[in-house]
Amino acid sequence: MSRYGPKLWIPFDSSRVAANTVARLGAMAHWLTVAPGIHQRRYDPFDISIVAIEGDDGLLVVDTRVEPAEGEALLADLRERFDRPVRWVVNTHAHFDHTFGNQVFGPGTATDAAIYGHANIARHFDDFEAPRLAAWRADPRREPDRHWDDVRLTPPTHPLDRAIILDLGGRVVELRPQPEAHTDTDLVVFAPAQRVWIVGDLVEESGPVMYGSGSFPLGWPDVLDSLVAEMRDGDLVVPGHGRVVDREFVARQAGELRLIADRFRAAHGEGLTTEQALAAHDDWPIPVAGLAGAAERAFARLDG
Ligand SMILES: [Zn+2]
Repeated sequence: MSRYGPKLWIPFDSSRVAANTVARLGAMAHWLTVAPGIHQRRYDPFDISIVAIEGDDGLLVVDTRVEPAEGEALLADLRERFDRPVRWVVNTHAHFDHTFGNQVFGPGTATDAAIYGHANIARHFDDFEAPRLAAWRADPRREPDRHWDDVRLTPPTHPLDRAIILDLGGRVVELRPQPEAHTDTDLVVFAPAQRVWIVGDLVEESGPVMYGSGSFPLGWPDVLDSLVAEMRDGDLVVPGHGRVVDREFVARQAGELRLIADRFRAAHGEGLTTEQALAAHDDWPIPVAGLAGAAERAFARLDG
């Protein structure tokens, strides 16, 4: 267990930003063992969590990084660290930073892993990730180091509309598609024997929660509350971005999302515009700049 192991993490306290940065830089270079056979590695850009779970029959990998070249680097890191092949990939949701490496692992590759994900991912790709990719390709000078032309959108080979139990050999994991929250493609991986939850961007630790493309600000707190109700003290939660956290952290984030949703509902009920709704408070739990899209999504939903 490294000194950044789960029992020794630094308290969730913004005054510890400097210490957190040190811990983060240390964490980035390693696979951190979260629980026996379950390992997290945090990759830049975006401080994205990749998780590897060891079974007797192979390795399960959660999320695939931002582009095929990063997926290739991930595969090389997995081969260096682990002695078994990648047989399963799971996407926590459709967003590009979690899925654009899929093609490295999927059909037609030497790895040829089964890719599991929410049944809505293919449609989310059509609605959001494909237009995003087209826009980036149309403006290659914006990110000259990126290789967007190489991306082949690769949806799950095993789309899930209900929870399943996957047997990795000597270990089972539950794959649980979630109701609408961070997106309509969220899926939680739960390792019941180790009490480890891998929750994607339903929870973020290294930055504020992200109301990105296709978010559901009104339903999100309900989804987190249901998860919190199932979590026990001592459970470990791997967020989509950042350090491993605990039940209390998730409950706190659920409360923040609840406050935001309640304020949107109240403002809509009073007939305010989204701009007025945001201007009505100066103590939002996350920077207000990150809430404009969320307010629009919430108001559109409330308008029916
Ligand atoms: Zn996301």
